[in-house]
Amino acid sequence: MKTIKDFDFKGKKAIVRVDFNVPLDGNFNITDDSRIKAAIPTIEKILKDGGSVIVMSHMGRPKEGNKEKYSLRHIVKHLGKLLNREIKFADDCIGDPAFEMAKSLTPGDVLLLENLRYYKEETKGDRDFAKKLASLGDVFVNDAFGAAHRAHASTTIIAEFFSKNKMFGNLFANELESIKKVISDIKRPYIAIIGGAKVSTKIDVLNNLINKVDDIIIGGGMMFTFIKAQGGKIGNSLVEDDYLETAREILSYAKAKNVNIHLPADSVIADDFSNHAKTKTCSSDQIPDGWIGMDIGEKARQHFSSIIENAKNVLWNGPMGVTEMSSFVAGTESIVKAMVKATKNGAFTLVGGGDSVSAINQVGMADKVSYVSTGGGALLEYMEGKELPGVKAIMES
Ligand code: AMP
Repeated sequence: MKTIKDFDFKGKKAIVRVDFNVPLDGNFNITDDSRIKAAIPTIEKILKDGGSVIVMSHMGRPKEGNKEKYSLRHIVKHLGKLLNREIKFADDCIGDPAFEMAKSLTPGDVLLLENLRYYKEETKGDRDFAKKLASLGDVFVNDAFGAAHRAHASTTIIAEFFSKNKMFGNLFANELESIKKVISDIKRPYIAIIGGAKVSTKIDVLNNLINKVDDIIIGGGMMFTFIKAQGGKIGNSLVEDDYLETAREILSYAKAKNVNIHLPADSVIADDFSNHAKTKTCSSDQIPDGWIGMDIGEKARQHFSSIIENAKNVLWNGPMGVTEMSSFVAGTESIVKAMVKATKNGAFTLVGGGDSVSAINQVGMADKVSYVSTGGGALLEYMEGKELPGVKAIMES
């Protein structure tokens, strides 16, 4: 594996792709800086060698009109604090000003570029755009494991312009090594906990997991598509009506493979999608009209916890409820606690994905599970055995 460990950055300008897609509150304060902290060792190694660093990242999914919300300018101060130096900021990731700023960097300098996704060329994997980014530095370092499953301009295509001088950062290399360890030694019962907003983004993951695990716990917004697919009443909860048939297919595939799918018996419901809404608990398939399922209920928490605590291998991705609102974090927290207990009981417990990682950090228990990955989609695809474009691009020369 080509990593930064064996490279001397003295006098080099390294363009480092990081994943600074961190959650911000309404005042643009960073609410969880784990992704930024995770990239610090890579940046520090380059600076210590006597190189300079051009940091690039995406944040969120900016569209016309909401660019301010997704500006990487909000990161500058905090990054400066963590690196103990002033950070230069280019308010356009390409173009003459960015090029001139990159050109004038001297050893020890750090330049942060504005959000790559302000250009649609980024997600399209546009070659010209990648070439422009590549022109800013003379070494390419990929430390954005969280974006490795996407063939975007800055994660994959850019590597074409560095025949030899391309490598994995510290975080990326650690992720690959740690996850490899997990998949090569699976103990049973092996269970997966999958939450988050939508079924549509997790179909492949679910189908693949069915081939590997003994039990799957499903929570979060996506559970309501499954409950509706089985004839349940879900009120005004999040649902993907186009995926009811898919949900039924997943359930019958699991049955055929003897994999137990566990849906929450009860839910915490609210009369409005708000932290201050009126709430009550009811059976997950009897949600009255006008009410929204926001979190898993107490019965479900106990049921899920007992399954997790008896497992020997646990993989968790996605929150059980709307964890951005403090009134609906308890279900997700109960999963964290069960994961911690399982770890104490000798299980290997792995957590990945922005919201689940934030939840585990919020309760201060990240060091009490076996492994916390910065990847969500990337982690799941890698575990499925898929080749990640971001990995392939570095390996090929
Ligand atoms: P994902 O990115 O797919 O892992 O989904 C994370 C998102 O799922 C978070 O923003 C949560 O607020 C959201 N979510 C979890 N539970 C629910 C729910 N019951 N209704 C609506 N959204 C939910």
